Amino acid sequence: MPTNAHLDERSRRAREEPMAVHAFGTTLYEVETETGHTYLVDVATRRCTCPDHAFRDERCKHLRRVAIEITEGSVPPPGHRAVTCAVCADGLFVPVDALEPHLCERHRFERGDLAVDRETGGTVLVLGVSPRHADEVRIPAHDCTVAEYATNRGYPADDPVVSAVFPTVDVERGGVKPDSLRVYTFPVSRLTRAEN
Ligand SMILES: [Zn+2]
Ligand SMILES: [Zn+2]
Repeated sequence: MPTNAHLDERSRRAREEPMAVHAFGTTLYEVETETGHTYLVDVATRRCTCPDHAFRDERCKHLRRVAIEITEGSVPPPGHRAVTCAVCADGLFVPVDALEPHLCERHRFERGDLAVDRETGGTVLVLGVSPRHADEVRIPAHDCTVAEYATNRGYPADDPVVSAVFPTVDVERGGVKPDSLRVYTFPVSRLTRAEN
């Protein structure tokens, strides 16, 4: 049995020794040591390719280091990869099969979210976020792109485009007023999350 002092020493080395950890987006992580050795850690099977792990039946410092870095958020958890937010370029981790656009917590909208239009203060109901940019999506009724539309010019032309409707529907004698069902498109930074 290893002594407690021995275990403490291993934990300290796992945390403090210079090691570079690279994630592959699976359960595999590559650990490069200060001396230039490279080992492969599988967090699912808790195995490492280092001799220390192979010859002794205990967790090596590489396995520990990967676990520490996942917990601290300096490498993506299994099945995730590091990307940058399409609006603010903040880093975030997304599942490897996540579709663009990648948006941080502050800039993320999902179908059914309520958002406030910064220009009018009005509340809209989000239908979806497109991976296409504001300068790539046309507004047919105005014969211009979302980016070119007058009240959108203060927002980045490469913003992903959000489609939304107004959550109130006007009903007249003849039925629903077609204008109140119109889908509007916004550069994503023009919208802020509505406080619930
Ligand atoms: Zn190891
Ligand atoms: Zn962001």
